[in-house]
Amino acid sequence: MPELPEVETVRRGLQPAMEGSKILKAEARRKDLRFPFQKDFTARLEGQTVTGLGRRAKYLMADLGSGDVLLMHLGMSGSFRVLEGGHNNTPGQFHHPRSEDRAHDHVVFHMSNGATITFNDPRRFGSMKLVPRAKLEHEPLLRNLGPEPLGNEFDAAMLAKACAGKKTSLKAALSDQRVVAGLGNIYVCEALYRARLSPKRRAATIADRDGQPNARAAALVDAIKAVLNDAIKAGGSSLRDHRRTDGTLGDFQHNFQVYDREGEPCAHCKGKIKRIVQSGRSTFYCPSCQK
Ligand SMILES: [Zn+2]
Repeated sequence: MPELPEVETVRRGLQPAMEGSKILKAEARRKDLRFPFQKDFTARLEGQTVTGLGRRAKYLMADLGSGDVLLMHLGMSGSFRVLEGGHNNTPGQFHHPRSEDRAHDHVVFHMSNGATITFNDPRRFGSMKLVPRAKLEHEPLLRNLGPEPLGNEFDAAMLAKACAGKKTSLKAALSDQRVVAGLGNIYVCEALYRARLSPKRRAATIADRDGQPNARAAALVDAIKAVLNDAIKAGGSSLRDHRRTDGTLGDFQHNFQVYDREGEPCAHCKGKIKRIVQSGRSTFYCPSCQK
């Protein structure tokens, strides 16, 4: 499942092909993805200029001249392919290889700048929905999302408040989109490793009894921001590499320090990275460095 850095990389890759350009023609080649397309989906897109392409958590948000916002989610397996000047480019393809099977091309935007943008999604957990900008704050898809981890408002006090009194593990708390938006299995493991905190530690222990943050909360917020920024930077470089070599994946996955590295030596203590299962998902950590 793509996490925040991958979605942000997709956003940056799509931006030049979308922003400032008009959607001349929109095709929805089936009735639904994760949920049905709105009946007027293509009609509301055609003829509209994309005035900006933003992101909230793992949703891409294309602002349209009409006042609508197109929300787009990659789901498990979704990807965008940009065909421009005879070259294909799939932004964000740096951790999970993306499908090349044209049978899974479900949505196509033909842009006035000549670009063709195709959404491919074999498993169809992705989604697209148009929402008037004025109604965005009441939109059910976005309403329960926690703070944006790279936003200024996300700090130790905010995270401690969200975790105070929680009986769940830190791993579970950070994976909860209401606590912080956009993190998944990979970046939760990586952030906890950087902060030297055990994924099994009770979430409540980053706050004192009044809900005030302690040093663990501060370390965790710093680690989350750093790991996401590094990943976005690596994604950006894979994007450039990808454009240049047209087909090879970036080497982003080699940057993981614990994720998917069971049995390998920890970079700090040379002990072995361990894998455990929490809530049905693999957690990777160093039992001697993370307490
Ligand atoms: Zn270690």
